[in-house]
Amino acid sequence: MGKIILTGDRPTGNLHLGHYVGSLKTRIELQNQGDFDKYYIMIADTQALTDNAKNTDKVKNNLIQVAIDYISAGIDPEKVCVFIQSMVPELFEITGYFMNLVSLSRLQRNPTIKDEIKQRKFEKSIPIGFLNYPVSQAADILAFNANLIPVGEDQLPMIEQTREIAHTFNNTYGELFGNVEALLPKKKICARLPGLDGKLKMSKSLGNCIYLCDDEKTVREKIMSAYTDPNHIKISDPGQIEGNIVFSYLDAFCEEKHFAKFLPQYKNLDELKEHYQRGGLGDVKVKLFLNDIVQELLTPIREKRKELEKDIDSVYEILFKNSQKAREVAQKTISKMKNLIGINYANFLKK
Ligand code: ATP
Ligand code: MG
Repeated sequence: MGKIILTGDRPTGNLHLGHYVGSLKTRIELQNQGDFDKYYIMIADTQALTDNAKNTDKVKNNLIQVAIDYISAGIDPEKVCVFIQSMVPELFEITGYFMNLVSLSRLQRNPTIKDEIKQRKFEKSIPIGFLNYPVSQAADILAFNANLIPVGEDQLPMIEQTREIAHTFNNTYGELFGNVEALLPKKKICARLPGLDGKLKMSKSLGNCIYLCDDEKTVREKIMSAYTDPNHIKISDPGQIEGNIVFSYLDAFCEEKHFAKFLPQYKNLDELKEHYQRGGLGDVKVKLFLNDIVQELLTPIREKRKELEKDIDSVYEILFKNSQKAREVAQKTISKMKNLIGINYANFLKK
């Protein structure tokens, strides 16, 4: 079997820099290398509803925003099947069969789910759909027999769960699903980019993000107010790099070419860090450098976004057309699953 890529995002907000370095950048590279048989990107609206059941406007409004973010950042929907999860109802059907193969305690042990339950204050009353979303995510992946999943680190437990479900299905009913591999970004910091508050990961639900669609002024303001080293008060004070968000973002985004362009007094990031640690380098200078790098990345994305916003209908049309194509693939998988489970009753007809 060839390379089948699948990945996606929840339409709970615009895409942010965490998405960009965690997954979107890799997705665009994979697309441009062209070394794949099939490539799907799913906008996970039904998954977003699992913790936004009463907040449907958020999901509805952000669906098109996420699609625009993809295309603005460089995803080409002619090459990649970008589709809407709820328009492929077969994914629910597959989830139903998989739910019989997973125990409640296994879901409760999933470390990402545990964190997210705490963040959402679901401890006392967890929506079943939410607890079950790793199973539905396994269905999303296995419906297309995808084997390469570009994701951030928080998704590793979901990929592990998907592997287990595939394995249990194959052992119980017969061989159908292949191996599934996560593809993490090369730099460790990119696999879990921290939020502007310096605490948890950058996440739409935590409101600590720089969004791809933020205008120039907003990006600058966010960077200028980012968390650094609280003990670095005077420029001459030695500064800490660890836990300093501005340096974390430089680790994620900065390349040597940026020094030549924006800060030629330094050769590379090591030199800049060394000066900061020694004392004598102010936060403002480092923040302005980061701002230059981020603005350079976001300017073309903002421009493309403006164009797409003029013709939203054509973006919806692409999504609808692709969702139909995705549906056909998922239907074939269900038919194979039913054959193996032994409930494809059409096969029982004598004539
Ligand atoms: P929500 O808060 O609604 O869960 P989110 O910001 O976590 O939203 P998702 O849609 O859940 O975003 O994640 C989509 C993809 O982006 C996943 O592959 C995830 O691993 C990756 N991702 C999300 N946040 C980060 C981050 N801060 N660093 C690296 N990757 C990230
Ligand atoms: Mg998330």
